[in-house]
Parts: sequence; structure tokens; C-alpha cells
Amino acid sequence: MAPSRLELEPLSAYWQRALDAADKALWAATGSVPDDDLRERRQHLVQERQQTARLLEAVARVARPQPGPWLSPAPVRNTMLGLPEAVHACIFDLERVLTDSAAVHAWAWGEVFDDFFAQEFPDALPLIPDLAAQFLTHPQGMLGTVRCPRWHDGERLLLIGDAAHAIVPFHGQGMNCAFEDCGILDALLATDPSHAFTRFEADRRKDTDAIAVMALENYAEMRDAVRDPRFIRQKALAMALERAHPDRFIPRYSMVMFHDEIPYSTALERGRIQQAILDELTATEAVPDLQEAARQINDRLSPLSGAAR
Ligand SMILES: Cc1cc2nc3c(=O)[nH]c(=O)nc-3n(C[C@H](O)[C@H](O)[C@H](O)COP(=O)(O)OP(=O)(O)OC[C@H]3O[C@@H](n4cnc5c(N)ncnc54)[C@H](O)[C@@H]3O)c2cc1C
Repeated sequence: MAPSRLELEPLSAYWQRALDAADKALWAATGSVPDDDLRERRQHLVQERQQTARLLEAVARVARPQPGPWLSPAPVRNTMLGLPEAVHACIFDLERVLTDSAAVHAWAWGEVFDDFFAQEFPDALPLIPDLAAQFLTHPQGMLGTVRCPRWHDGERLLLIGDAAHAIVPFHGQGMNCAFEDCGILDALLATDPSHAFTRFEADRRKDTDAIAVMALENYAEMRDAVRDPRFIRQKALAMALERAHPDRFIPRYSMVMFHDEIPYSTALERGRIQQAILDELTATEAVPDLQEAARQINDRLSPLSGAAR
């Protein structure tokens, strides 16, 4: 009999703990076990983690249509959540996501704030002598991504919008996602209400996962890439390619922001292909070969119906 989703979640969590514990043990053995031996064992552990994730996915596929349980590709550490190592628990709530860890996060920042400002913004520090105190006494917000492993409880309750899949706001799409949820759910209920919540989650998750990835990538782009001359050349080239091939090549930002007929998962997938083409064409500083660009675009990107506007 196929295992149920509820049986797979704790199983996955046990594996997570076991693999993370093995990882910690290996790091603790540094110095007492030869380096080569430790390196080999760590490589084995990475492989075991990958094999286990694949196995869990395969088991989850038997229990379709629910998606597989989540297993992190690397040990989950406090620092990934912005928490000090000493913290053993943190409380999540749905209204102000990560409320408690935001407080801990602020506390951790408060400890290093003066030094950070002294190094990065020395002229600002004398103007705000009580900087750390102000930081700690003003409300802290935390921008994060909610990855909720299950959105529905049978057909009785369903999470939509931010409660199911909040994202960082760097693509300005969170509210749009919530509106899209409403439209999709409404259509499902209108056509065939049976198992509507299950079908909603099975169909929708690929798109909300995709925009979560793109929102984070857009942050990295705004933070770093815009100062890179190659990135600027790629942006100019992407616009030229869009003008030449409007039904096949649309910059990913435009697909997400201005083409509501293109699902987020399609934008992510096509965006990856387009980026590979741009990377190839700008590998050197020579003028990009537009004939080669046309050939690659026709080979690798199918036409998007109704794309040109
Ligand atoms: C800084 C920032 C900028 C953003 N910019 C954009 C943007 O430019 N474009 C965009 O599309 N999105 C943007 N977003 C995202 C957008 O605000 C959210 O995705 C959207 O508000 C989610 O809507 P929601 O209805 O799912 O949740 P919410 O808007 O959070 O609504 C949930 C509601 O439920 C209420 N509630 C909670 N608990 C209870 C309870 N127990 N009983 C009764 N009521 C309760 C809350 O008070 C709240 O009013 C931004 C978000 C942030 C933080």
C-alpha cells in the first residue's frame, strides 16, 4: 500500500536529523581523525543525503498527487535562519512570519551594530550615538520565504496567499500570487469541486516555488549584478533579442511583470535557457554574433502564443 503523506513527513524529518547529526560528528572529529579520511567520509555523507532525497521523492511519487517531503540538500544550521548557534527553538506564526526569530535576529545584530557601522559607515555613527539602542527598541520586520510543506488538511481547510507561500518582496509579486490563487481556486470549485484543495496544491505549487526562487534571485541581481559590466551588456543584448524575436525571447523580468499569461514556472524555465544563451554570446567582449543568437533561440525556445504585445 502506498505510504500517506503524513507518514512521509516525519520519516523525512528523522532522516534530516540523522544526517545532520552525522555531519556534526564528522566536524567534531576534525583534528582527531586524519584529514583524508574525514574528507572521504564527508563526501560519502553528501552522497547518502542525495540518495536519501531521491529515494524519498520516489516513495512520495507512489503516494501522488501530493508533492514529496522536503529534505534540505545541506545541514540546516541556525545561521541559515539568522539565529545564534545557542538557540534551540524558534516559534513561527502566520501573521508576522518568524516573529520570535526576528526578535532574536535583532538582538544578535544589536551586539555587532556599532562595529559594523564604524567599519562601513563611519561618518554616520557620530550622528546616531544611540544607534544600537534605537535599533533594538524600534520594531523589526523580517523578509522571508515561507515554504509550507502542506497547504491543505483533506478537503476541510486550505492555506492560500502568504500563509501558504509568502515570498521576499523583490519582484513585487506576492499580492499577485495571492490573487492568482483566488482565481485558480475559484475556477476549480466552479468546474469540479471534488478534491479541489488537493488538485489546487498539486497544480499550483510549481508556480509559487518558481516565483519564490525568482524573487530571491532578483534581490541578488539588484544588490550585486547591476554593477557588473557584463550584466549590463547582457541586459542590452536581451532587449535587442526581444525586439528581433518577440514571440520567443522575452527577458525574464518582463515575463514575470508584464505577461500574466506566462506562468511563473515557465518564466523560470525559459529564463534559465535565455540566460545560458546570453552567457554564451557574451563569453568574450566581442560584438555578439546575432546570427548565432537567432539559431540558438529558434533551436532552444519554442514560440510563446500571444507573447508579442
Ligand atoms: C515590504 C513589502 C513590500 C511588498 N510589495 C509588494 C508589491 O509591490 N507587489 C505585490 O504584489 N506584493 C507585495 N508584497 C507582498 C504582499 O503584501 C503580500 O503578498 C500580500 O499582502 C499577501 O496577501 P494575503 O491576503 O495572503 O496575506 P495578508 O495581506 O498578510 O493578509 C492576512 C490578513 O489576515 C489577518 N489575520 C491574521 N491572523 C488572523 C486571525 N487569527 N484572525 C483574523 N485575521 C487574521 C492579518 O491581520 C491580515 O490582515 C510586499 C510585501 C512586503 C512585506
